[in-house]
This record gives sequence, structure tokens and C-alpha cells, in this order.
Amino acid sequence: MKVLVINCGSSSLKYQLIDMSNEIALAQGLVERIGIEGSILTQKVDGRDKYIIKTPMNDHKDAIELVLKALVDEKNGVIKSMDEISSVGHRVVHGGEKYAQSVLVTDEVMKELEECAKLAPLHNPPNIIGINACKELMPNTPMTVVFDTAFHQTMPQEAYMYAIPYEVYENHGIRKYGFHGTSHKYVSSVAADEMGKDIKDLKIITCHLGNGASVAAVKNGQCVDTSMGFTPLEGLVMGTRCGNIDAAAVTFLMTELKMSAEEVNTLLNKKSGVLGVSGVSSDFRDIEDASSKGNERAKLALNMFDYRVRQYIGSYAASMGGVDCVVFTAGLGENAIETRETICKGLEFLGIEIDKEKNNVRGKVREISKDGSKVKVFVVPTNEELMIARDTVVLVK
Ligand code: AMP
Repeated sequence: MKVLVINCGSSSLKYQLIDMSNEIALAQGLVERIGIEGSILTQKVDGRDKYIIKTPMNDHKDAIELVLKALVDEKNGVIKSMDEISSVGHRVVHGGEKYAQSVLVTDEVMKELEECAKLAPLHNPPNIIGINACKELMPNTPMTVVFDTAFHQTMPQEAYMYAIPYEVYENHGIRKYGFHGTSHKYVSSVAADEMGKDIKDLKIITCHLGNGASVAAVKNGQCVDTSMGFTPLEGLVMGTRCGNIDAAAVTFLMTELKMSAEEVNTLLNKKSGVLGVSGVSSDFRDIEDASSKGNERAKLALNMFDYRVRQYIGSYAASMGGVDCVVFTAGLGENAIETRETICKGLEFLGIEIDKEKNNVRGKVREISKDGSKVKVFVVPTNEELMIARDTVVLVK
């Protein structure tokens, strides 16, 4: 069974074709600049040179048509015909309160997705456009939707509610939803497997630390809290996002500095985080570099990032009444050796102890805690695409 996984952005599209008999990605690719001059598709297949197609693409339908062409290409493709694609799994950012699980694409689901779009105006519309384009090109292939928010729908009400008038929650859906759910679900299950334990017996804290970053508390296999909120702005300090901030700062900026809602939104989402504090870059490697050369603001940005992750780990240990395992994943979590070390420094009181030697690892599943550490610490490379494909197989069957 071969599953095509599609993740549509507003002008880009990521895809993977996964052979589910061995869970190996046959091909992965990226289409960029859809609807803009300079459209380009890049496809990677293990052991081969990159396959690059530069051709105008007016919309997502053009892009998906080209993806299918690249996959069946006689020389550079990996399958003989489109019929080999048994199903398609689409990543959708927001499923609102309606979706706690992945679902098959139906007319009803498409209608619901349109309704959720107001909660994620930047993300859901391109996801929907991608599904519709795919349906047109592959009308007889079953398709599924896998939501970024779904895994977090098990949070108890005291965790997901904001203390605002209840009607505002009821009428406008303003509450914590959480994101990166597919990643948190995947890495927590891998860590449980690595420990040789049933996830239902574990308290796990998963740290997805990339350009966007979030922490989740996973108790007995279910998410009980997460750091991102109504939107992916809340929680940790991120590449360009501020994370937690007093909401009154927003109204202050609007009244005192006469900034518009859009300007404040841009300030907090695009110009803040480690970029805003350091003034150097949103890329952690650039900031680490600047910090090592004595740039004080770069150092401050890194300290703020580490401090907040450490705070969340402590907080979620309290939420769950303990912690058995901490997992690091995504760009920084998988690769930033020093960041993992500094985050864990000071958490020894919880029983979290990292082994310096074992921590010297990038991009591989590995336990990095000391032999006697009460809490196990793991690096687990995330694989959202595989998780989407797994859900797709289950639903289609
Ligand atoms: P992601 O959003 O998961 O792709 O993660 C991107 C972030 O991970 C960027 O800020 C990168 O700087 C960071 N990153 C990737 N590799 C490393 C590394 N070796 N050391 C520090 N940060 C890294």
C-alpha cells in the first residue's frame, strides 16, 4: 500500500510517497512559488540526484498535477502509474473542537473545514485548496485529513480554557487548541517503545523545538496540556514568535503606539521571538554563533528560550503529578546538543539527568539520560508524514 502525504501551504506544497509495507519514504518533494513567477518542484529519492522541474504553476492543481507527473516519471519517478497510490493523507492545521481524530474526506468534512478556517485563516484555506485540487485529479482515490490540533483534544477543560467570559468561549471558540499534535503523538509513542513500556503507563513531556516550538504533557498516551494556544503564538519563545505575553501589552501597543491589529499581529508573530530579542536572526544556528562571539542580546535570546522550555517541563511534571520521560524533537530538539544540555541543567531535582557523551548526537533516536537518571530523556526525530500515512491506512481499511 503506497500512501501519498500532502502538506499544502499558501504558495508551497510538501509531499512524500510512503510504502506502508515497510514504512519507507519512496520519494519526498517540495513545490515552491505556486502562483508566483519562478515555480519549482524538487524531488528527492534516496541514492539518486535531486529531480528538479522548473515550470509555471498557476495554482495548487497545477502543482499536484506536476507532483503526480514527477512520481510516475520514467527516469526520475518511483512508481509506474498513479493507480499505485492507494490513498492520500492531507495535513490540515486546525480541526477546531469537532475533530479529535483523523477522518476520511467527505462533503460533510469539507464543509466543516471551511468553518474551521476562521480559526486558522492563514493555514486552513491553502490546506482546503490542496484537498480540492487533489480530489479533482484523483476522484476515485480515498483521502483523509489529519489535524495538527486533534491530539490535543483530550486536554481537560481546566487546561484548555482561558479565564475569559464563558460566552466568549462558547460563541467564538476562544480556547487553547494546541498544535504540532501529530509530532507530539509520534515522538511520545516512539519514546514509550524505546523504554519498552506501554504508553498507557507513562507520563511523558514532549518538546517540539523548531522554528515554531511547543511542549506537550502526555499522560497515559493522552495529551493533558500543551503550550501553544488559540493560535500557534502562545507558549515558548520561538524563532519569530513571542510566546507568552501579557495580553494587556497588545492593547497598550494599539492605544499608545496607535498600531493596527494587523501591525501588532505582525510584530508578535514575525518580528519577535529570538529574532526580536537578538536582532540577529530567527535561525538558532546564527544566534548561537553570535552568542559565542560575545553578542549579549543573542545570549539573552538563547537564555530566554531555554528558561521557558525549562519552566514548561517543570510545570507539566506538576500537571501530571510526575514525569517518566522527556523527549526532544524537531530542528533544535534533534540537533542542538548544547540547548538540550542547558535546558536540562537545573532540572536534576525532578530526576532529569543528561549524560554529556550520550547527548552528543544529532538526528537519531537515542536515550541521552545518565544510566541512573530517574527520568529517561530521549532524542526522537519527528516524522509527521509517517504518522499521517499510518492514520490514512487505518481509516481507508
Ligand atoms: P524546524 O522548524 O523543525 O525545521 O527547525 C528549524 C530550527 O532548528 C532553526 O532555527 C535551526 O537553526 C535549528 N537547528 C537546526 N539544526 C541545528 C543545529 N545543529 N544546532 C542548532 N540549531 C539547529
